[in-house]
Amino acid sequence: MEKKQFKAESQRLMDLMINSIYTHKEIFLREIISNASDAIDKLAYRALTDEKVGLNREDFKIVVVPDKEARTLTVADNGIGMTQEEMENNLGTIAKSGSLQFKKETENADDAELDIIGQFGVGFYSAFMVADKVTVISKAYGGEAAWKWESEGVDGYTIEPCQKDTVGTDVIMSIKANTEEENYDEYLAPYSLSNLIKKYSDYIRYPIRMEMEHSRQKPKPEDAGEDYKPEYEQVKEWETIN
Ligand code: ADP
Ligand code: MG
Repeated sequence: MEKKQFKAESQRLMDLMINSIYTHKEIFLREIISNASDAIDKLAYRALTDEKVGLNREDFKIVVVPDKEARTLTVADNGIGMTQEEMENNLGTIAKSGSLQFKKETENADDAELDIIGQFGVGFYSAFMVADKVTVISKAYGGEAAWKWESEGVDGYTIEPCQKDTVGTDVIMSIKANTEEENYDEYLAPYSLSNLIKKYSDYIRYPIRMEMEHSRQKPKPEDAGEDYKPEYEQVKEWETIN
């Protein structure tokens, strides 16, 4: 008897993916960071045999930038990036994992050199649990042009050429407005983001950098009198969180 292939209602599938497979919204950050780490792993692996890459293990990093005014959270990596075709295949196809494919293609690789996390091809979509729009700007290693992928979730995505000077990927999440049940603002606050990074992404082997704000006591002025009270100021400093 002829065996038929299952069909999928892709919008429904996408909806399930976004709203039902994860119990905690906060894990989106772990997913997006693990993708950044995988992308770096691929380029770092490439660098072992291709001296044109010109990067060493120490040069790689993942940068997390919350922007309260713009209500965006950006996770940027200087990994291998994506071509237009890779964006189409890996971000435009549910359950398609470019990372699993990479792992298969490098099966003989020394395990110590590779630590690819991704395999199911669904983690990326978890960004839509906290974002009403996700923009991915990427330039592939060896590619000429950069590409911008953008989506507001279930109803599809666009891809267009854009400007990006360096190789790697920026995932820009436009964070949802707060609701009665959910305080999305915490995904724009460095302190709570750093807690999420420590909780879920501490094991990542590349530095996860974020600008943190601290309160610091101002130096006591020379002419401070008896009644001098210490003053404090907010200072921003880049830190490695993991
Ligand atoms: P998985 O990580 O399990 O493969 P995801 O849904 O998280 O699935 O991501 C799908 C694919 O999109 C990845 O396998 C990878 O090919 C591509 N991708 C996602 N994020 C990045 C990134 N920051 N840089 C390069 N490729 C990426
Ligand atoms: Mg993933």
